[in-house]
Amino acid sequence: MTPNTISIDYQTNRVFPEPDVFIHCSQGTRIPVHASILASVSPVLENFIDRPRKHRSSERIIQIHGVPCDAVIAFVGFLYSSRCTEEAMDKYGMHLLALSHVYLVPLLKQRCIKGLTDRLTTENVVDVVQLARLCDAPDLHLRCMRLLANNFKAVEATEGWKFLVKHDPWLELDILRFIDEHETRKKKSRRHRMEQGLYTELSEAMECLEHICAEGCTLVGPYDVEVQRERRPCGRFSTCQGLQVLIRHFATCEKRMAGGCVRCRRMWQLFRLHSYVCHQTDSSCKVPFCRQFQLKMQQEKRKDDAKWKLLARKVASAKVMSSLSLPKRKRDEEMRVTMNNHGIRSFKLL
Ligand SMILES: [Zn+2]
Ligand SMILES: [Zn+2]
Ligand SMILES: [Zn+2]
Repeated sequence: MTPNTISIDYQTNRVFPEPDVFIHCSQGTRIPVHASILASVSPVLENFIDRPRKHRSSERIIQIHGVPCDAVIAFVGFLYSSRCTEEAMDKYGMHLLALSHVYLVPLLKQRCIKGLTDRLTTENVVDVVQLARLCDAPDLHLRCMRLLANNFKAVEATEGWKFLVKHDPWLELDILRFIDEHETRKKKSRRHRMEQGLYTELSEAMECLEHICAEGCTLVGPYDVEVQRERRPCGRFSTCQGLQVLIRHFATCEKRMAGGCVRCRRMWQLFRLHSYVCHQTDSSCKVPFCRQFQLKMQQEKRKDDAKWKLLARKVASAKVMSSLSLPKRKRDEEMRVTMNNHGIRSFKLL
């Protein structure tokens, strides 16, 4: 076939001498180019150009096959101008990524990775993930895997996926494994968020408990502190109010623990948790049962001790996390400690 030399737009205003190299691409097309430009942007092309020729007079030729000729033209355009149109990226983004990888043109490679990332769809993701592997583009590969994991149902229905299942079981396995791990990670972080929420709630309940036992709030207060009836709700009133209602119930419930009252048992657990988070070991704490629990802890090694200690640590760290986001004055207020312990009878129900 007689080569068909085309003239191309180098997308630059520079004036060039006569072309001294020809790129041969598919369908016998010849693209005239300049050795100096090619050599300056691609070490691989530079190598080709520097190869000794059979005859001094013979033309220097570089063969680029396996991609459409228009993709090669867009590639050459980039070598001259460092620019690639969105239209070329739409049509030849994958070919350009392959060419930039093979001919070591990092600038174009970055441009293609971004361009392909922006254009990822459930339709093309299977092709792009394979290319990203071949072209050593880990960021693009990861984006593909995430899209696969999040939209697997849609991807599974594509021709690309069906082809992959038939021809590349290893990649299929790899993708399925990633999806599995991705699901596990998602579940884990969801559970972690829920747990953190619970610890934060417990930590708030612990603070309210100390505050109710030391200074009193709207419904309940310590027996030896004069609590004004018209007290305004405190800063964490929704937690505080719930806790006060629970304390009132605990102080007056007929069934109590023995009768298996759920609300009493919950209050009992909050008192116990407090004794694990409480740092006042000199019986100055005003929260009921605090000292008793602490003494019991020292005397008998209970089986569930470790579990409570772990819970207390988590609640304490949730408190640290939330206090970090408070202004300093507020933080000092929150740190205020309480005095004297008298058991549940020390409450005055208002
Ligand atoms: Zn309160
Ligand atoms: Zn009860
Ligand atoms: Zn205490």
